[in-house]
Amino acid sequence: MIRPRPALAGDTLSASLASASRLALGGMPAAERLWTRLLAEAVRDPGELLRLLELPADLLAPAQSSSRLFPLLVPRGFIALMRKGDPADPLLRQVLPLAAEDDQVAGFSADPLTEQACGPAPGLLHKYRGRALLVATGACAVHCRYCFRRHFPYQELPRGRRWWTDALDYIASDAQMHELILSGGDPLTLPDAQLSELASALAGIPHLRRLRVHSRLPVVLPERIDDDFLAWFTGGRLTPVLVIHANHAREISPQVAAAIARVRAAGATVLNQSVLLAGVNDEVEVLGELSERLFQAGALPYYLHALDRVQGAAHFLVEDERARRLHQGLSARLPGYLVPRLVREEPGMAGKMPL
Ligand SMILES: *Cc1c(COP(=O)(O)O)cnc(C)c1O
Ligand code: SF4
Repeated sequence: MIRPRPALAGDTLSASLASASRLALGGMPAAERLWTRLLAEAVRDPGELLRLLELPADLLAPAQSSSRLFPLLVPRGFIALMRKGDPADPLLRQVLPLAAEDDQVAGFSADPLTEQACGPAPGLLHKYRGRALLVATGACAVHCRYCFRRHFPYQELPRGRRWWTDALDYIASDAQMHELILSGGDPLTLPDAQLSELASALAGIPHLRRLRVHSRLPVVLPERIDDDFLAWFTGGRLTPVLVIHANHAREISPQVAAAIARVRAAGATVLNQSVLLAGVNDEVEVLGELSERLFQAGALPYYLHALDRVQGAAHFLVEDERARRLHQGLSARLPGYLVPRLVREEPGMAGKMPL
């Protein structure tokens, strides 16, 4: 199976851009910025995760076995938000490889969205009118066990400038394209020098209006929201939108709230998307508290995604009927603007489909 490459593997272009940017950006060399160090220090060894959280040793063998297919990866700051000694902790459950990932379940496939064949340029997905999504990198700062991209053939993507050139040409040729979404993987695992270059190129396409970034780093590694990020993200012509990804209120730590506040102070809109996950957030109280905490921190709930039926994630499934009831429960207790849209992505549809 095909896996995202390690977050810091970096191609030659990013390495040379990083060194070229040392003078240009003034401060620390890219490789020594706080967030890159924290990302390099993220936990990759299941044994270490279990030790840090004082968890039973019988979790080790399945964790090791399942992380061979999709490696464990979780930043230490995110681990610090988990409860010690609780194998059912909702944050832990999102990252701990389980034996259940080996189950072959009917209806769960390697590419549930048939995305692997639909790009107009390498790395570019154009499924919905007016906006396209660029898979800027296959790397992430955390490996979410439910991720529908866990089988995505990232290494088939061309690397560096040429990759973007084709995508940029395509975007430039479609005058109806108003928004470009940087996604992945996680685009914020890339160095700011590279992202800044891409953002300037996008700003040069006259019909583009918005630059949207989909990232889990503001939640699992809030140190990523630093001055260099804010400079290219909020300093250009395009209207910036940041879509973060939190699934549980306990993910919104004071550090995360501070990161969201900085992005908002710099003029960007901040939205959140969650995935509805059994054993993580499939209770009305839990979803309600997430919406409340997000809003207090300055982010609006945007989407609540039904799980994509990807092989290895069946144990996270919440059946549609129950998902609808949870959503109704949420609507009955929260103001409308705090109720995320319950949606599913379906191949061939013009947008995310309400469930
Ligand atoms: C989810 C998604 C979008 C964005 O959809 P919005 O409804 O605008 O948030 C765009 N392109 C692709 C391929 C997507 O999967
Ligand atoms: S959900 Fe996002 S951050 Fe998590 S593994 Fe998938 S792409 Fe990476």
